[in-house]
Order: sequence, then structure tokens, then C-alpha cells
Amino acid sequence: MRDIEINVKKLLNELPQNVLLVAACKTRTLEEVLTAINAGIKSIGENYVQEAKTIYDNIGSKVKWHFIGHLQKNKVKHAVKIFDIIETVDSVELAKEIDKECKKISKTMTIFIEINSGREEQKSGIHAENAEKLIKDISILENIKVSGLMTMGMFTGNPEDSRLCFKETKKIFDHIKNLNIKNIEMKYLSMGMTDTFKIGIEEGANIVRIGTLIFGERKNIYKT
Ligand SMILES: *Cc1c(COP(=O)(O)O)cnc(C)c1O
Repeated sequence: MRDIEINVKKLLNELPQNVLLVAACKTRTLEEVLTAINAGIKSIGENYVQEAKTIYDNIGSKVKWHFIGHLQKNKVKHAVKIFDIIETVDSVELAKEIDKECKKISKTMTIFIEINSGREEQKSGIHAENAEKLIKDISILENIKVSGLMTMGMFTGNPEDSRLCFKETKKIFDHIKNLNIKNIEMKYLSMGMTDTFKIGIEEGANIVRIGTLIFGERKNIYKT
């Protein structure tokens, strides 16, 4: 637990002022997450609605909740109650479901569009060339606000391989921003994890999602 505190403080010290640190908390215990929050974490990322709920029931909205996993449509109803930002929207169907459930609870959900910049390396996200149409389609939904893009990059073992992915995502980010689409705001660019966050920041990220460097290696070996 002492390590978590040290890691958080070190990271917060090192990151540029404009970069938001989201602690990626999948598989971590309530106690570990609380330690990170006490050390200064203000935003937490969860991949699973059920896992988030257990922690949410204990700490509530004293942090910002980012959904960073693959959101199944049948989980949206629960997700919209917990999360402030859903970073991984990649289809109009998912956006419509979020919009519908948010309407019921009078909430406007901030979402990011997930770009599949690693292409075949990765299944989730939309290819960059399809992002503009998706964003335009989503822009008419009243209970959704698109506020940025998120991408994972590549998992080749070499962090530098993600640089091109991040560059491509930044390019589409700037492109969409310049279109000035009504109800669309390109404010946040979420790129970079433990191995790649420095590269993400160099390529324009203002959100990084970090798990391992805060909490240590995960016991279950799974990437997302
Ligand atoms: C797990 C995860 C992270 C953090 O990964 P680490 O390598 O442990 O820092 C970031 N983003 C997403 C979407 C994740 O699933």
C-alpha cells in the first residue's frame, strides 16, 4: 500500500499540469483504490461495470469515474448511473443506448470516441477514417456530449510502435476539432498507459490511463 502512495505522488509530480491521470483500477481491491485516492488520484478508470459498482457503492462520486473497457449494450443501464465519462464509444448503436438510458435519469453523458489505431492488433474502436461520420451521427443525440477521443495503440511489446497510432489519432482529433460540429467538443485526447504514456503525452495526449505503474503487475494476465 505504501508503494501505491509513492507511485501516485511520483506520477502526479512528473506529469505536465495539463495532463489528467486516470488510475486504471481493473482487478484492484477497494483498499488499493482507496490508497490511490488518498494519495491524490481524482479520476479512476474501470473496465467492468460490476467491478466499478462494488467500489462505487463504497466511495461514490468523490472521484470522477471513467469507463475504459468494452461496454456491452445490456450493461449501459447500470453504467450510466456510475460513470461521468465513457471513453470507449465506437458505434452509433451504443451511443443511442447510452442516450436512451441517460434520458431516463436526466443526465448528459460525456463520451469519447475510441479510435482503433492499432488496426488488426485490436478489436475495439472505430477506424480513423470512419470517425467523422460516427461523430456527426452522434452529435444529434441530446443526452450525449462527445468531448474527445481515446485510443489504445499497439501491444507489440515495443512502446514506440504506438507512436504512429497516437500520431494518427491526434491528426483525426485536430481534423474533427477544425470542423466545428455542433454539440461536439474536441477537448480531451486519452492516449497512453504504463508503457506508453510518455509517448502519448509527446504526441498530444491530455489524459493518460495508468494501472501497473501505480498498483504493480496485475495477477490476472489480460490486457484490457
Ligand atoms: C488496463 C488498462 C489501462 C492501464 O494499463 P497499464 O498497462 O496497467 O497501465 C489503460 N487503458 C485501458 C483501456 C486499460 O484496459
